[in-house]
Amino acid sequence: LSSKLKDPTLAVDKALIAGEWVPVSDSGGTFDVSNPSTGEILATLPDMNRTETKRAIAAAHKAQKVWAKKTGKERAGVLRKLFDLMIDNVDDLATILTLEMGKPFAEAKGEILYGASYVEWFGEEAKRLYGDVIPGHLSDKRIMVIKQPVGVVAAITPWNFPNAMLARKMAPAIAAGCAMISKPAAQTPLSALALALLAERAGVPAGIFNVILSKDSPSVGREFTDNDKVRKLTFTGSTEVGRILMRQGADQIMKLGLELGGNAPFIVFDDADLDAAVEGAMVSKYRNNGQTCVCANRLYVQSGIYDAFARKLADRVSSIKVGDGFEAGVAAGPLIDSKALAKVEEHIQDAVSKGAQIAVGGKRHEKGALFFQPTVLTGVTTEMKVAREETFGPVAPLFRFETASSSLAKAGRDRNTA
Ligand code: ADP
Repeated sequence: LSSKLKDPTLAVDKALIAGEWVPVSDSGGTFDVSNPSTGEILATLPDMNRTETKRAIAAAHKAQKVWAKKTGKERAGVLRKLFDLMIDNVDDLATILTLEMGKPFAEAKGEILYGASYVEWFGEEAKRLYGDVIPGHLSDKRIMVIKQPVGVVAAITPWNFPNAMLARKMAPAIAAGCAMISKPAAQTPLSALALALLAERAGVPAGIFNVILSKDSPSVGREFTDNDKVRKLTFTGSTEVGRILMRQGADQIMKLGLELGGNAPFIVFDDADLDAAVEGAMVSKYRNNGQTCVCANRLYVQSGIYDAFARKLADRVSSIKVGDGFEAGVAAGPLIDSKALAKVEEHIQDAVSKGAQIAVGGKRHEKGALFFQPTVLTGVTTEMKVAREETFGPVAPLFRFETASSSLAKAGRDRNTA
């Protein structure tokens, strides 16, 4: 990995706990991070669990008290420095992202700029943590609201935006005077480690930004929800895991921020501009190879335009260049892992067995193990899994509808219930 970077030190293979870079876990266990495009192992990392998580929480708890005493301007200065470092190192951060996650390099670069924008914006907001003075309910009372950091914040982040999802949780927490313990997805922890290294260089003090490395996310999540020093948990991931964390957090009435799955509808009416509709579908369905929570998952197309839309979309989709994220012109990388690939195949098989047709794609791609052909399905009905479960892959299922009211009713009803 380091040989591919301008600054090889950004290839980090240690966890960050209490300001120490920790190379081995208490159990001695490790896990590998591999490139989904080639299968090549990029790093072998310590596989941690509750004991290390507890240590990080204790350190964060202590460090936070000092950090919270800094002025907003001081914290803003550190975050500004981090923003500048992210911009200076955008190519390396994007290289790490493409290597561990597979998205095209141009998209990875876009993600780093997007992540950095949170660091910039929340850093600026550190100076503006205004309160309120509210008229009281009695003539001799006045109510004053002040904003204070909640304390230690834990973050669990997914693999589809490994830099931006963490940046957007870490930056506001640190700006507000909180300390953060993050647990990145085991598929893509290297982006989090590089970010943490830059944060250290920017002057984020020891213990304020910790990165726990673990394949055993239920154990780490359990410590996050059970440890009463953790005052808030922020999570981006599947609806199913969000539900588990909400249940676990109930015991201590934990403050939760949950960003979960979706099953977004995309509706095309007979009088739509066909080219614009197809372009819109391309962007909202195939971005990040269909692996975002706001990707169009169900495309409802009115019967008068259905065949023309299906043909045109299938035509555009057949021209998507699939391949390694560093190859020129590639618009779709591999899926993240074999589980993701199996889900895509299962959804297609289920739809076809219930009468759907494959307009284009439908199979594994010749490029190799985790590549899949961008797919369009026609003749899709609400009985099929694609109607209710998030596919999280490059599959556009086209539902036919007759009247506007029927499509809107369906769009609202078939929510993600998985
Ligand atoms: P996906 O299916 O897209 O990987 P997940 O919700 O499984 O989505 O993963 C999102 C994040 O949640 C990852 O960092 C993962 O390691 C973590 N995670 C998965 N299961 C649990 C759990 N039971 N408790 C805490 N974190 C979890």
